[in-house]
Order: sequence, then structure tokens, then C-alpha cells
Amino acid sequence: MRTMLCLLLAFTSSVAWSQANSPATQAIEAAAEALGGKQRIEAVKTLKILGYGQLAYQDGGGNISSSPLAPQKWININAHQRTLDFPNERMRLQQRNVQDFVFAYDRNMTGAVRLDQSLDGDIAYNVGPDGKSVRASEGTMRARRIEMLNNPVSIVRAALDPRAKLGRLTRDGSVNIVDFTTKHGEQMSLALDVQTHLPAWVSWVAPHANFGDVTYRTNFVGYQREGDRDRTPILLPSGYNTVSDFRNVVQYKLYVDKYVIDAPEDSLPGATQQMIAAAVPPDAERPNVEAVPVAKGVWYLKGRGNSTLFEFDDHLVLYEAYGSESNALAIIAKARQTVPNKPLTHVILSHHHIDHTGGLRAAVSEGLTVITNRENVAYVQEVTSRPARHFPDALARSGRKANVVAVDDRLELKDGSMTVQVLRVIGNSHFADGLIAYVPRDRLVAEGDLVDEGWNLVWWGNSYPDTVNFWKLEVEWDLPVHGNIHTYSEVIAMLKKQTHGAELLCARARGAELSVQGCPVSNTLDQYGHDGSLPVPTDSFSARP
Ligand SMILES: [Zn+2]
Repeated sequence: MRTMLCLLLAFTSSVAWSQANSPATQAIEAAAEALGGKQRIEAVKTLKILGYGQLAYQDGGGNISSSPLAPQKWININAHQRTLDFPNERMRLQQRNVQDFVFAYDRNMTGAVRLDQSLDGDIAYNVGPDGKSVRASEGTMRARRIEMLNNPVSIVRAALDPRAKLGRLTRDGSVNIVDFTTKHGEQMSLALDVQTHLPAWVSWVAPHANFGDVTYRTNFVGYQREGDRDRTPILLPSGYNTVSDFRNVVQYKLYVDKYVIDAPEDSLPGATQQMIAAAVPPDAERPNVEAVPVAKGVWYLKGRGNSTLFEFDDHLVLYEAYGSESNALAIIAKARQTVPNKPLTHVILSHHHIDHTGGLRAAVSEGLTVITNRENVAYVQEVTSRPARHFPDALARSGRKANVVAVDDRLELKDGSMTVQVLRVIGNSHFADGLIAYVPRDRLVAEGDLVDEGWNLVWWGNSYPDTVNFWKLEVEWDLPVHGNIHTYSEVIAMLKKQTHGAELLCARARGAELSVQGCPVSNTLDQYGHDGSLPVPTDSFSARP
């Protein structure tokens, strides 16, 4: 027994010794020295990062088209303030988000979206505009822990922690890379410049509903001396640039105005008893889907984002796999339950934006063939063939590949029971390549983002009547992905009101001598009557010889 204990002690101490003297440990210690000294770095209590920057809208999947060459839409970050409280393991992020492209809510375009996000140990919560705190999910908590590591001081401290497990040191060009597992279990890679020993970048893998596993890398650039004059300065980057391995999209840019080190007022308060006791919301809630019969063989499936189900002689077709894996799987299950004796075979995508394709991987995992514009075929194949090894989702578990049907302008799905015309959307400045589904018999349209009763402004209100008039449809009912069923006259009234909302925003901006994207409003809908009809051209009345 004593021998075993001795052996055990010898073994553990040799592990401790080898880690302490390993090239990886030496590299991390050199990095701490380069930043300002190991003691100085480990003694930092609080660090506040003030600045501004930009975020890639919808992680690069929300652009005008699904092409990798499409111009990136940006969300501007203003009044960014990230405070890190090391002894308490707390973080708070405050910033304002402003969309740098036309969108459907006044608040997104005026910077009225104020984020106030906190982390206290393993408790993540958000403070809303009403001042109320709301507990955030486990997944959000994990993402914030990574955010907290996303700067040189945090990541080097995490690697110096005796509870961290350091891997081997590998050389890659001008950097040495140390892979390590933090005391909380996050797997991080830290690259250290071989010349300066400063952290060059940090990298990690995170789950994504649309893209499977995504590897992110934050580059630290422009190191400068920061801190009080009477203390040893710490070298910190002037710029942060996070790139994802989905098309190398620049996910996040931060331009630092100023760092504040160890200001006593930056010690963050802990989560309240109420937050500690609050229920943790699930990362993926499976909604209760309601199947609303709309016409013979047509159901409106109401989940978190709606789908429409069409019944053919011997199979079923769905319009849209919205939101998330859990929403899409709940919608698909409801479709199968609604018509249990026929297989669900196809899903039609309204357009490529990542909220609308949040259930695409799930739909493919359930064996559905995807119907989309020809321009989106490569995108569908790209996102459904990305692996999810670190964070397996339904698609990774199924091992399935996407079958895709390309639509050029028009595709008619027709048999004895049902006719659905799948038609290209016309004149849309929100997405270039979209599809509606039209049932001539019932004069109904299923669509995504042509109208939404929740919007308070719209810049592409023309697109719905343009599409209806181009295809010479006689629409009575609108079955939207967002909101509720409306008559077509109600749709036109909403679009006119929301377009007027955009004009009012532009007038406010003009009054304040500020420029706002999309102003002046180009698509006014003035040419359309209240029922969406176009005036009969006077030409057609002219006398002919
Ligand atoms: Zn939408």
C-alpha cells in the first residue's frame, strides 16, 4: 500500500514537474512576461475595454444573396464597454447596436438597441430596456465564458492557472501554438509570436445552428502600453478582429478607444438572489406547434416562425424550415401527425437568411429534399455538408446529405389533389433570390419576409405586389412565416403604413442632419391601390386605327 502511494506521489509530482517545465508552459510564461510580467498580469483585478466596432450581420448568412461574394452587411457597435472582474469571475458588456443597412424596426436603425449582458461565475443574465434582469441559457453562459477569454490578459491568465491542462507546443510559421483546456473545460488554442512572445491570436470551436461546428479566431493587433503612469504598463491590443471558418467571414471587429485597469468602481456586483434562483431557460425549446386548417389539403403550422403544409396525392410538401433545429423538428413532427398516412418529402425555402434556414440542417436530417432558387443551391450544399463533430446536431447524427431541387423562376408541383406554384420573388431589396408558394385554387400565398405584422418600417414593401402582379396572381390570403394569416388587402395596408414609417424615420434623420441608410425611401408603393392593384395603363384605352 505504501509503495503504491509513493508511486502515485512520484507519478503526480512528475506530471506537475513536466507541465511546469514543458515548452508550452515556458511559452505561456514568456507571454505573461511580454505583456507586463507574470505577477503584474496575475494581479490585475479589473479590466475595462472601451471602444466601438462592427459585427457581421447573421454571421455572414444574412446578405443580399447567398453568394460568398455578396457584400457583407454590418451592425455597428457603439459605446462598447466590456468590464472584466477577475477575482469574482464576472463580466459585463454594455453596447449599442445600429444596423448599417435597411431593416424593419426603427430601433435597429437608430441605435436604440442597448445590450447589457452579464456573467457571474456560471450565471449569465441580461438586463432589458425595462431594467429587468432575465436569466440566460446554459449555451449563452458558455459563449460568454469564451468572450471573457477573448483578450490577452484573460487568455494568458487562464493558461497560467494550475488547473488548466496544457497540450503540446507546435510551431506554425511565426507563431507557437499552445492548445489547452481551461479549468472550466473550454478548449482553446493560443498562438504566441515567436519574436515578441505576445499573444497573436486565440481560437476556439463553437456550435452553430446553420453552420455546424464553427472555428473562430481572434487576432490581437497593435499592442500599446496601457495603464497608470505609476505602475508597470501592460501591453494590450488596439484592435481585435474575429474571423470564422464559415467563408472566413470577419465576424467581429473591435477598435479600442481606451483600457482602464483596476479602477475600483469596475468591481462588478454579483448576480442577485433572484437571478441565482431563476430558472435557466433551455437552449433549444421545442415549441408547441398548432396546425391551422386553411383550405382543403393546406395547413398553416404555427411554431416559432410558421410553415405551411401542402397535401398531394401521395406525399406532403412543407414551405419553410424556420428558426432552429428544435423549431423545425417540431414543425416536421406536426406535419407528419397532421397527415399521418403520407410521407413528408420536400421543403421549399423562402430565402437563404439564417433565421429562415435555421431548421435547414434539421430538415435534411429528416430526409426532406430542399426546393430553392438555383442561386441558393451551392449555399444549401455548403451549409449542410459542414461537420458538427465537436457539437453534434441532428444532421451530423443522421449522416445524411442534402438533395436539392433548383428553381429558376417557376416550378409547378401538381397532381390530382393539389397544385402549388413555386415562384421567384420579384423586386426585393432584402434578398435577391426568394420563392413564394401559391395555390391558385384557394388564392393563397405562403411567403417569408415579404410582410410581417410586427415590422414598424419596411423598405421593400413593393416586392409583394410586384411579385403578385408579375405572376398575375389573384391573391386573397397571405400565410406569412412571421405573424398571422391576413387578407391581401390587409397586407397592402400594412406595407403602406410600414413604408410610411420608413419615410418618417428619414424625415427625423433629415431634421437632425444625420444620414440614415436607405433614406430617402425609394420604394414608396404609391403606384399601388389599396387592394394592391395597379392602375390600368391609359394606353390600353387609346383608340387604335
Ligand atoms: Zn424573416
